[in-house]
Amino acid sequence: MCEWLKNKRLAGVLAMMSVAGVLCGAGATGASGADLEIASIRLGNHEDYTRFVLDMSRDVNPRVFVLADPYRVVIDLPEADWNTDENAGQDGKGLVRGYRYGLFRPGNSRIVLDMSGPAEVGRIFNLKPANGKGHRLVLDLKSVSRNEFLSRAGWPKETTGPGRRDTSIPLRDTGNERKKGRYVVAIDAGHGGIDPGAVGKSGLLEKTISLAIAKKLRDQLVATGRYDVLMTRDTDIFHSLRDRVMIARAGRADLFISLHADTIKDRSVRGASVYTLSETASDSEAGELASKENRADIIAGVDTTEISSEISMILIELSQREAKNRSAHFTELLTTQLAKETKLLRNTHRYAGFRVLKAPDVPSVLIELGYMSNRQDEQNLRSPDWQNRMARSISSSVDDYFKSEENGEMRQAWVQ
Ligand SMILES: [Zn+2]
Repeated sequence: MCEWLKNKRLAGVLAMMSVAGVLCGAGATGASGADLEIASIRLGNHEDYTRFVLDMSRDVNPRVFVLADPYRVVIDLPEADWNTDENAGQDGKGLVRGYRYGLFRPGNSRIVLDMSGPAEVGRIFNLKPANGKGHRLVLDLKSVSRNEFLSRAGWPKETTGPGRRDTSIPLRDTGNERKKGRYVVAIDAGHGGIDPGAVGKSGLLEKTISLAIAKKLRDQLVATGRYDVLMTRDTDIFHSLRDRVMIARAGRADLFISLHADTIKDRSVRGASVYTLSETASDSEAGELASKENRADIIAGVDTTEISSEISMILIELSQREAKNRSAHFTELLTTQLAKETKLLRNTHRYAGFRVLKAPDVPSVLIELGYMSNRQDEQNLRSPDWQNRMARSISSSVDDYFKSEENGEMRQAWVQ
């Protein structure tokens, strides 16, 4: 049923990443059906420790580890259904500044505690139901020195290893390749699972909005009959930024579109904007946004250490230059279409070092659809009608892009 899983290279990569099944609208990997239910999360501040308590439907045997810079405690659990307050974790207590939780990958939920300083897990134990309370998991967190913390910090062995390489996927020659037949469009709904992305004043989550619009865009592209669509996620699940890039490359995507929404202090600011990759940011706002978006992996407690490349740098540079030109060309067409349906931010096309745009051989853009901190934008972002119109403009610009590629217009745009 799913074309993508017939692609051997992609299937191999997905198996490595344990994400097979998240593509093609299969949607079989959501959090429902888990036998572990979390009813609430509580924090208590005691004289020399901070207590973290999960109220659960049964005992668990969590994997707990700590990560430095910033100080984090990561708690891995079996996949769980969360019946907790949506805004739980925004505020902390004692040593815990705040926390996030959600699906990390199929079969595995994760909680990440942001600590105000170096701390260790002094005690961890399950409590059986008693005195009207159900099963509980208790962690007592104590302050330690930075050196003590660092001696314990790090990823457990099984989370790192050769499965994380994406450089084994051969580079495509984007410049000379003339594709016949259908094009592959990768749609990347920003954030997901444990990483909510930006949070609007009314509790609206970026991960929800990005997925809603991604699905509408997928449906519209599929309806044209001209494209194969590859979704980096179609459920509320987390993927690292590198894995998103890897999914697009393994699926030999011809175009990569990452969907996001932002928040900003100045609530009067509104409008959509489009970002492409550059090592030098077009302005300080773009640079700040990129570092905010790049924090997704840190937020989810993922290993972000760089992996040495097996591809010659010259090849990467050539591919990257072509992919960059194509990204810029698509952005031009995209902003023209978006302008028909929504307000655009001034200097609509901006660029900075977004990690999710780093496929050297796939033209990639990141769209910030609007500001959840602005009342009008937030209303739009929530509205299914507006979401449909945005999906339509993006889908039209995808048409414009591939038509102009077929006409060879792109080459003209490169000569500068
Ligand atoms: Zn985002």
